[in-house]
Amino acid sequence: MARKPIIAGNWKMNMTRAEATALIEALKPLVKDATSDVVICVPYTDIDVAVKLCAGSNIKVGAENVAWAEKGAFTGEISADMLAELGTEYVIIGHSERRQYFGETDATVNARLKTALGKGLKPIVCVGETLDQREKNRTKTVIRKQVQLGLEGISAEDMASVIIAYEPVWAIGTGKTATSEQAEETIKFIRGVIAKMFDRKLANKVRIQYGGSMNPKNVKELMAMPDIDGGLIGGASLKAPDFSQVVNFDK
Ligand code: PEP
Repeated sequence: MARKPIIAGNWKMNMTRAEATALIEALKPLVKDATSDVVICVPYTDIDVAVKLCAGSNIKVGAENVAWAEKGAFTGEISADMLAELGTEYVIIGHSERRQYFGETDATVNARLKTALGKGLKPIVCVGETLDQREKNRTKTVIRKQVQLGLEGISAEDMASVIIAYEPVWAIGTGKTATSEQAEETIKFIRGVIAKMFDRKLANKVRIQYGGSMNPKNVKELMAMPDIDGGLIGGASLKAPDFSQVVNFDK
């Protein structure tokens, strides 16, 4: 069975509510005929606006993180229940910026993932190597560990709603894209790790995105690779014409 591509925007810490409104209104008509799933992952303060504006459209709304705890003394965190209550459908977990600046580890990724799944959110779990790790030929070792520890204890049933984003850290926000061959090689490797953890049939169903300076110019080539099932898009998701061209890569 063919995997349906999923193109997700990651707005990061951008877009006030007024800016979000303008972007979504511009985006809706441009992506309405998409053949892929279309998601925008937005700052917490934009979620209610985004859910309201995207209702009745083909755009789904996601958050950029979720707490591992259900509730309680976790100042500054947002719970899965709070996200679900607003109509959030997807959530990014373990983005490299969270790993780099906010102490995210494979253990916290795994804990957040379990909580998200338990509350019916569809997680986009990010993995990726740094430039130093790639140059030292450690890419596969690093990615294997992130996948194995990140997905530890997840049931085969729950894996059906997990999306993986392979995002080489050196390609995020730098304008440097992995070549389609580099991205394919690592994504195929990730599918192999998932096959070993679960089974090949399930691994063949899991959607694995590429992320890292994906844009209207390189999307076609990346999406032509057999194991690349979509993209997680940062910079190019902040402009309706750019994001819509990425979404409409097959038009
Ligand atoms: C990202 O933030 O996940 C990302 C891929 O960013 P960019 O597209 O800007 O490299």
